[in-house]
Amino acid sequence: MSSSNEQTSPAQPANFIRTIVADDLQSGRHKTVVTRFPPEPNGYLHIGHAKSICLNFGVARDFGGRCHLRFDDTNPVKEDVEYTESIKESVRWLGFDWGEHQYYASDYFGQLYEWAEYLVQQGKAYVDDLTAEEIRAYRGTLTEPGKESPYRGRTPEENLDLLRRMKKGEFPDGSKVLRAKIDMASPNINLRDPVMYRILHAVHPHAGSAWCIYPMYDYAHGQSDAIEGVTHSVCTLEFEDHKPLYEWFLQNLPVPATPRQYEFARLNLTYTVMSKRKLLQLVQEGDVDGWDDPRMPTLVGLRRRGFTPESIRTFCERIGVGRSDSWIDMGILEECVREDLNERAPRAMAVLRPLKLVVDNYPEGEGEEFTVANHPKIEALGSRQVPFSRELWIEADDFQEVPEKGFKRLSPGTEVRLRAAYIVKCTGVDRDGAGNVTAVHCTYDPETKSGLPGAERKVKGVIHWVSAPHALSAPVRLYDRLLSVVSPTGDDWKKDLNPDSIELLTDAQLEPSLAQAPPEAVFQFERQGYFCVDRKDSTPGRPVFNRTVTLRDSWVKK
Ligand code: ATP
Ligand code: MG
Repeated sequence: MSSSNEQTSPAQPANFIRTIVADDLQSGRHKTVVTRFPPEPNGYLHIGHAKSICLNFGVARDFGGRCHLRFDDTNPVKEDVEYTESIKESVRWLGFDWGEHQYYASDYFGQLYEWAEYLVQQGKAYVDDLTAEEIRAYRGTLTEPGKESPYRGRTPEENLDLLRRMKKGEFPDGSKVLRAKIDMASPNINLRDPVMYRILHAVHPHAGSAWCIYPMYDYAHGQSDAIEGVTHSVCTLEFEDHKPLYEWFLQNLPVPATPRQYEFARLNLTYTVMSKRKLLQLVQEGDVDGWDDPRMPTLVGLRRRGFTPESIRTFCERIGVGRSDSWIDMGILEECVREDLNERAPRAMAVLRPLKLVVDNYPEGEGEEFTVANHPKIEALGSRQVPFSRELWIEADDFQEVPEKGFKRLSPGTEVRLRAAYIVKCTGVDRDGAGNVTAVHCTYDPETKSGLPGAERKVKGVIHWVSAPHALSAPVRLYDRLLSVVSPTGDDWKKDLNPDSIELLTDAQLEPSLAQAPPEAVFQFERQGYFCVDRKDSTPGRPVFNRTVTLRDSWVKK
């Protein structure tokens, strides 16, 4: 309320919206900034919505104002309470709080209807009997003006009577609409008598069966902003051409406030699709396992994949807010989660494609435990006990019988360090009848135990391992990008679905400490990537792991 609020947070990069807000507070145009995030509850939120959430809630937070969560629920046919609940959960998960400011456009239906009657009485709206197709044909094109409807000349009295009867349910769906009477010759098609109300005998998920006429988005949106005292109504660029209509309604109605609309570029992310329609198609056609499939760019999907709210907020800051549409590289989002998890994820050893390693000179039936730090830099993450024994699992591709050039890991006659344990030397292999290697044999050097004085003898390779009798066998899912092309567009975008976007490993052998990891716990599996405990499919003591991201971007050169 006071000038003490009128400051940008130094932590936030500037953008043109923040500049406008700062100027408006400075000049006294507004005392408090009020923004809103207005999802239509017809799907789950995706990473594009996160950009809008971070912008709207971020501006309100940093300028001491408030941000409303408003469900823009004007189309009962496609909306559902399932979506409403998930939207709330995702906004909270991202770290934002609307306090008591949760609203529904449908709660304003009464006021919106009164204002519709007001426009009719002013001679600025009329009931039209043209069909949807005729209305489209009469609208004209970008180069030709529109044609006036033969019903445009109805008197205010006649229109009021028809509008009231529309509301009472006297007419079937599609038989009439209410239109604003603006200008059929306007160069802006949005001003050629846009439809304000349509007849729809449908039960509304929030308003119930109170209505059989429903306002169009363009009519409901700005008036809802005005009712709530929104000062800066921020939307994506495709609404730029709708702005004159947004302003026409505000100017021609006795609204209590005059919000202003500002447009910014929507987020497009490479290797994925973002529109709710396309995401719904993937769900309905069974290409993914629901809205929260870890391959989906939805917030519930990213969450299940192991993305943290911090990483998504960092991403939204890093990409900035501008006014030209572009594609943002998925690699940037992945780098944000790597950076975040690198700082917070405990390390663990997990063998994804196991091969048996027998330490022949280690006493049979015996074992020991190593104390291993959970994080190379952050002591507060503590340490854990890792059991060692004569039979171990190692990664199959850490052994090559005939080593290729530059191979630094295990092959006959060579030495490697077993991470946090001993140096071992490969002595031979076991084979099955077909000649395939079934186990690798080695000997260990007791003098090289990690941490012992003199144990620093250098060998070229360090590999991870898991003690076979102690290992936790757990399903591990390796996820990759949903689509295999950079910018999927066009109607046949589904032909580019990445056939390798999921790989299920059923044979992975993990260090036993991981058995107790709770849902959503995150880890760096050494040398493999970042993984999380799936929040849906895991049960106590039986975690299922999802790969969030590899340690390095393997798509750079593709
Ligand atoms: P979609 O195109 O995915 O169906 P939408 O625009 O229909 O999304 P809404 O529920 O209307 O989805 O969006 C709520 C808010 O989120 C709007 O203010 C919209 O501008 C914003 N938004 C939607 N998609 C993106 C995106 N890709 N980037 C930035 N903001 C977005
Ligand atoms: Mg929309």
